[in-house]
Amino acid sequence: MSDTPPNPPFRSGALDQPRMIHPDFPEQHQPAPGLATRMDPLPDHGEESYRGSGRLKGKRALITGGDSGIGAAAAIAFAREGADVAISYLPDEQEDADRVIAAIEAEGRRAAALPGDIRDEGFCKEMVESAVSQLGGLGVLVNNAGRQQYCHRLEDLASEDFDATMKVNVYAPFWITKAALPHMGTGGSIIITSSVQAKSPAGHLFDYAQSKAANVAFAQSLAKQLAPRGIRVNAVCPGPFWTPLQISGGQTPEKAQQHGASQPLGRPGQPVEIAPIYVLLASDEGSYLTGEFFGAVGGSGL
Ligand code: NAD
Ligand code: MG
Repeated sequence: MSDTPPNPPFRSGALDQPRMIHPDFPEQHQPAPGLATRMDPLPDHGEESYRGSGRLKGKRALITGGDSGIGAAAAIAFAREGADVAISYLPDEQEDADRVIAAIEAEGRRAAALPGDIRDEGFCKEMVESAVSQLGGLGVLVNNAGRQQYCHRLEDLASEDFDATMKVNVYAPFWITKAALPHMGTGGSIIITSSVQAKSPAGHLFDYAQSKAANVAFAQSLAKQLAPRGIRVNAVCPGPFWTPLQISGGQTPEKAQQHGASQPLGRPGQPVEIAPIYVLLASDEGSYLTGEFFGAVGGSGL
């Protein structure tokens, strides 16, 4: 962990007052994948605020991209709800991952740290096997890792970039789910993080938007295939959330500064504010929820 003093956290205000004047974040840029711990203000992953109530007691979950942002908020919430949690992330993100692992362990839950690049099918297989052996099984899989790099002109979008987006956002969930399924039984839950971009694609996110539409189809197709096995599959479609993805090439620096300002709520969501959807979908209380997609967009809807 670094010795640099942390940036102040961005609080969304009282939970019963979700609307606020946009904080107009300081201009900032990090090379991808970016670190939450270097963002100003710090995102709120629920470190101080999320309270569990045993809704995932005894469950074992693997969350890709669980080091920061939405995946980190889901990881912390899952642990506080009683689950053991494995997180995958890129080696450059160890600093963020260390904090999430510590938060899981602080709940007395088992944690597994799985650094590596999910653009590689071999790594995806090893990563799943390692999660299963370290947790002693697997009941919940959250395909959440994502790549988003804006590009204004199709002529400027390199094949390598298009390929990398598809590898992380489309191929990896296929490879990881394929490796996980032999370990998952009835009562299992698979969640994929899609985006509002699946339904309202922006011009500068041509490759990303397509990949996120694929994520919704992933959930809707696989839900039908796996219903007979008692495994549910759903997609979550976030709108603007304050995470490293947005300040490391996901948006232009000007747009990132105003992230979420155009929403009726006037601000981006904090990662902790979407964690309850993941908890519900992972829990047995969500037993009739499958083949669906769930938005949290800030007011304009999906
Ligand atoms: P984030 O940067 O915190 O999380 C993305 C994670 O993906 C990274 O932490 C990284 O660990 C992982 N990742 C990326 N490339 C990888 C690779 N090659 N190998 C292994 N891991 C890799 O940002 P986030 O916003 O929390 O993103 C989580 C998900 O939410 C993504 O799927 C993203 O598309 C989706 N999403 C985010 C927003 C938003 O506004 N933040 C909106 C809609 C959808
Ligand atoms: Mg990260």
